[in-house]
Amino acid sequence: MRILLIEDEKDLAAIIRQGLEEENYVVDVAHDGEEGLYMAENFSADVVILDIMLPVMDGLTMLTKMRHKGISTPVIMLTARDSLVDKIKGLDIGADDYLTKPFVFGELLARIRSLIRRKVDVKQAAICIDNLEINTANHEVKRGGKGITLSAREYALLEYLAYRKDNVVSRTEIIEHIYHEDSDMDSNVVDVYINYLRNKIDKGAGKKLIHTVRGAGYMLKSE
Ligand code: CA
Repeated sequence: MRILLIEDEKDLAAIIRQGLEEENYVVDVAHDGEEGLYMAENFSADVVILDIMLPVMDGLTMLTKMRHKGISTPVIMLTARDSLVDKIKGLDIGADDYLTKPFVFGELLARIRSLIRRKVDVKQAAICIDNLEINTANHEVKRGGKGITLSAREYALLEYLAYRKDNVVSRTEIIEHIYHEDSDMDSNVVDVYINYLRNKIDKGAGKKLIHTVRGAGYMLKSE
C-alpha cells in the first residue's frame, strides 16, 4: 500500500517515513501543500497523511482543492493540540480522520489500517481467503493454521491482493501501489514475485488461491 505524507517538519517527516517503510508501506513525502496536491493527483496513494500547518498552501486549502478535483483518497489530518476549529473544519471539508500532535506511532498505524479497510470494505485486521489468513496488524500469514514466512516484498504483494480479494489486479496497479516510482520496476518483476508467493502459499496446499487472469493480471480468491 502506498502512503502520501505531507509534512513540512523534515525531522518528523523522516521519522514517520522510516516507521511506515518498516511496515512495508511505500511512502512519498511532500513538504508543502502545493507539492502535496501535485502528488495526490499524480501518484496512486491509498492513504494521505496531511499536516494542517504547511507552507505555500496550508493543509485545509490543499484538502479542499483535492476534494474539488474529485480525488477521494482517505485523509488523516495531523493537527496541533489546541486546534479544535481546524479539526472540525477539516472533517467537514472531507478529511476522514485526525491525529493530534504529538501522537503515538502505533495509533497512526492503526488508523491507517482502519482507513484502508474502510476503502476496500474489509472489516477486520485479519483477512481470510479460504484457509489462508493474513493478519495486516502484525503481518503474520498462515495457511491451514501453519505459519508462512514471507519477505517484505512478498508480504506487501500478498497484502495488496488480499485487500483486493475477488478482484482482478493488474500488474500496473500492483507496481503503483507497492513499489517506489524510482525503483525501476517493470511488470516482469510482478510475475517473479507472484511465482515466489505461489511457491509459499499454494504449492502442496491443494486448492489454488492465486489465479492468473489472462491479459488482465492476478486475483486472490477462493474458488
Ligand atoms: Ca507543520
